[in-house]
Amino acid sequence: ASENMDTIAAIKERGKVIAGVKYDTRLFGLKDPISGNVEGFDIDMAKALAKKILGDETKVELKEVTSKTRTPLLQNGEIDIIIATMTITEDRMKEVDFSDVYFNAGQSLLVAKGSPITGIESLNADTTVLAVKGSTSVTNIKEKAPDAKVLEFENYQEAFTALKANKGDALTTDNSILLGMMQDDPNYEMVGDIFTDEPYGMAIRKGDQQMVDTVNEMLQEMKDSGEYDELYEKWLGTSPPSAE
Ligand code: GLU
Repeated sequence: ASENMDTIAAIKERGKVIAGVKYDTRLFGLKDPISGNVEGFDIDMAKALAKKILGDETKVELKEVTSKTRTPLLQNGEIDIIIATMTITEDRMKEVDFSDVYFNAGQSLLVAKGSPITGIESLNADTTVLAVKGSTSVTNIKEKAPDAKVLEFENYQEAFTALKANKGDALTTDNSILLGMMQDDPNYEMVGDIFTDEPYGMAIRKGDQQMVDTVNEMLQEMKDSGEYDELYEKWLGTSPPSAE
């Protein structure tokens, strides 16, 4: 039933955008347990979309997704869009449509400072890597370090807690997410070069071209106005590489 849903019409009818975002990912979508506020680059994108479609950036309802739950939640109509550190891949394009790239990340490793692991070449049958279910990080690491043991968690909070509890030797995901973990706990650091390309796109129900066009138009407007660069600097602390 949700296949041919006209998302823009539904958003206008209900008066708000329902965005699927992360609640456990510092810099992109993180819920502050005290204030209850959810903040990050992806959250600001959701607000910009509400402004674009409804003329009011506060008309947005956030719903928590994980890497594993985000596509089913979009497909069953519970959310209008996924804005959740999601890499555009050919496999995923069979299930959803994507906006243009709005952020370029790459997979890397996070280890405790002083760890003998210095990059992906250090991983072998004696090392355990922690990752999150449903992420590209899991498939990539199994391909690039086939001997390493991989332990999968429901979300990034759990995976990082497991790393701190010495349940593994390294945690692997996008450098952009690992950056947030390093800011959270300076006893951990990223090692080695990135070993994949992870271009983020916002995911939209398959076939909803009007929604894709609207999101891409918003992105272009944000780039033209300088708002995109401002957001990038606000969360990443640097200006975006010129390719973005
Ligand atoms: N960008 C990667 C992915 O889409 C890792 C981040 C995530 O799990 O959301 O799978």
